[in-house]
Amino acid sequence: MNQKQKILCVLYDDPVSGYPTQYARESIPELKQYPDGQSMPSPAKIDFNPGDLLGSISGGLGLKKFLEDQGHEFVVTSDKDVQNSVFDQEIVDADIVISQPFWPAYLTAERIAKAPNLKLAITAGIGSDHVDLQAAIEKNMTVCEVTYCNSISVAEHAVMQILALVRDYIPQYKWVIDGGWNIADSVSRSYDIEGMDVGVVAAGRIGLAVLKRMKPFDVNLHYTDRHRLSEDVEKDLNLTFHADVESLVKSCDVVSIHCPLHPETEHLFNENLISKMKKGSYIVNTARGKICERDAIVKALETGQLAGYAGDVWFPQPPPNDHSWRMMPNHAMTPHTSGTSLSAQARYAAGVREILECWFAEKPIRDEYLIVQGGGLAGTGAHSYSEGNTTGGSDEASKFKV
Ligand code: NAD
Repeated sequence: MNQKQKILCVLYDDPVSGYPTQYARESIPELKQYPDGQSMPSPAKIDFNPGDLLGSISGGLGLKKFLEDQGHEFVVTSDKDVQNSVFDQEIVDADIVISQPFWPAYLTAERIAKAPNLKLAITAGIGSDHVDLQAAIEKNMTVCEVTYCNSISVAEHAVMQILALVRDYIPQYKWVIDGGWNIADSVSRSYDIEGMDVGVVAAGRIGLAVLKRMKPFDVNLHYTDRHRLSEDVEKDLNLTFHADVESLVKSCDVVSIHCPLHPETEHLFNENLISKMKKGSYIVNTARGKICERDAIVKALETGQLAGYAGDVWFPQPPPNDHSWRMMPNHAMTPHTSGTSLSAQARYAAGVREILECWFAEKPIRDEYLIVQGGGLAGTGAHSYSEGNTTGGSDEASKFKV
């Protein structure tokens, strides 16, 4: 493919304190392969220093030189939600859109319809629900992501937040900062996780990594998934399999969510399902905000049906300043950061470059990176998603103000 392409890349803003000139660490570990043997991203070359900030505007995923040397046009913006945003203006003649779930450029059916040249949507990360996958299927587009690039990053964040909730870490930290020594206040909601029942909704790359990481805490492990794990894995981790999510939540003290957002999982955790949970359960959701019903979570925290809620995913993103999850009691939320550690950025930047190299050379993109291709779900998309659209309501993101 020799002709000039226009690549529109939507990334989050640079740090308000300025793009870093130095870093906390001088290098990041070099991983040889992913836990299941899948090979790491393997572009012909990279033009960045692994461990540098690549995910924001100035980092540009380390793609600028590579694309411009070949004569392609590379437009990078963070302006994506307001009316007549740069994203909306530039998409009309874009061939490729690159977007990150952390600062998602919602590729709705309306935007896809406005972009006659658009053939490829790359997710720099994992989770392509910000694309109207039904519209992409109907337009015969390719949607792909960098499968596994940040699965372990997210698993680490989920384990951190499970412990933060059960041990009630955040209020204790606050007492230190505020100058107190209020031990009774600090421990009035603090428990050991040892002996608790901990379950994951979906045991794919992330869910399985969470189960493995929770095993040494001597908890009882549970899972549900549309694909059952092998007998060996179930035995090794002493897992209880549940045929459905309702059975799982009835048995667990802590539930960590790891399925993609697609029509089957949208608003899965609604008032009805949460009412089936044990009183005082904890939910950690690092999958997608919309898997949980916003108001049902707030209500359950207020009544005590949930003892705590954490995660890093919201809907929409960025969430409006008055989003009720910012204010609800007993939460330990972060912005959407788990999959965009500096370590993860190096992998997804390399993965995006690998995908672009394949695309320009008209070589197949790895099957495991595919979500939609050839007019249907493909690769990981066929394994982990159902057809349909879950971008409805994403225009609310325009209400966010810095
Ligand atoms: P994966 O494809 O390896 O695993 C997904 C699993 O979900 C599969 O095992 C699939 O069978 C299961 N599943 C799908 N629909 C289901 C349903 N209705 N009920 C039960 N199980 C179902 O993907 P992964 O790498 O583990 O990532 C999972 C999701 O985590 C992503 O799709 C994304 O939404 C989210 N994620 C978040 C971040 C972050 O930064 N917070 C980063 C990466 C991924």
